[in-house]
Amino acid sequence: MKITEHIENAKGETLFSFEIVPPQKGKNIQDLYDNIDPLMEFNPPFIDVTTSREEYLYIKKKNGLLERKITRMRPGTVGICAALKQRYQVDTIPHVLCGGFTREETEYLLVDCHYLGIDNVMALRGDAMKHQRYFEPTNGGNCYASDLVTQIKNLGVGKYLNEVIESDNNADFCVGVAGYPEKHLESPSLTTDLKWLKAKVDAGADYVVTQMFFNNQAYFDFVEKAREAGINVPIIPGIKPIAVKKHLQLLPQVFSIDLPEELIAAVEACKDNKEVREVGIEWAIAQSRELKAAGVPVLHYYSMGKSSNIQKIAEAVF
Ligand code: FAD
Repeated sequence: MKITEHIENAKGETLFSFEIVPPQKGKNIQDLYDNIDPLMEFNPPFIDVTTSREEYLYIKKKNGLLERKITRMRPGTVGICAALKQRYQVDTIPHVLCGGFTREETEYLLVDCHYLGIDNVMALRGDAMKHQRYFEPTNGGNCYASDLVTQIKNLGVGKYLNEVIESDNNADFCVGVAGYPEKHLESPSLTTDLKWLKAKVDAGADYVVTQMFFNNQAYFDFVEKAREAGINVPIIPGIKPIAVKKHLQLLPQVFSIDLPEELIAAVEACKDNKEVREVGIEWAIAQSRELKAAGVPVLHYYSMGKSSNIQKIAEAVF
């Protein structure tokens, strides 16, 4: 079922959902199941599965030298979507990237999704690779998420890359895109960023999921400005509980977001990461309760690895 239908059917009730990251190459899927199993009691109507870009893998050769190879360290997004869909009977949402994929590869991936009965995809540009300063589009790939949305929506009307194919069984994906309450790190201003978010919606995006934020006012202001800019699709808040002290530096640096002083002080006062995890849970519960009271359609949690913190938050909020 489409995410927009899930939201409509909920009739104003806030839904619970989360995002997972595929296991590292060579690791078993059982760990993933063990983390997801306890979250299923909160009835998520959908689970997002991220796609990772390629990165350098360093292989130690017999002669002691290091060989560098570009590879995808967490492959298997669509396969995991199929496995979770079957195991839990939920909708699964593969993240589809511009970076690292030609448009032809994306087309094949979408055809696979369609055959698997996947109704939703999340369209993203992807970041620059770690060794690159800026995002460089892949040869033959899409440049911006809005281009990718156009490609996905065209597949739905039988327009493939070089041909229009008559068909009575074409895909009709519900498409999600990313939004940034504190603006995307490359954007010169929030107004410019909203202009490009509007371009994604005009290209056919059906809903927005936000980057993490730790001050709800940033989300409320963003939604207001998005509405003023003519963006009228659901805007789902993304919540990440802080889990380790290092997040104080890492999250602002990687995602270009602000952390509230009160949260920084509480984390700094912790004597170990066990305490930090508790602070992160309490903060996310407070954020979630306020957002739920404000009537957000879904509370979407970023769960990177161990999900016990998301479970505690869900117990307190749903
Ligand atoms: P775009 O919407 O293409 O925007 C990128 C930048 O270009 C922005 O600054 C925008 O303002 C600007 N821009 C857009 N269109 C134009 C245009 N036509 N002309 C000029 N400027 C333009 N990354 C992953 O690698 N894998 C994932 O699974 C993943 N999942 C994510 C899920 C969510 C909910 C979010 C919020 C992010 C996720 N990301 C993921 C990160 C995302 O790929 C990065 O934030 C990336 O840098 C931007 O992606 P985007 O889709 O927002 O890009």
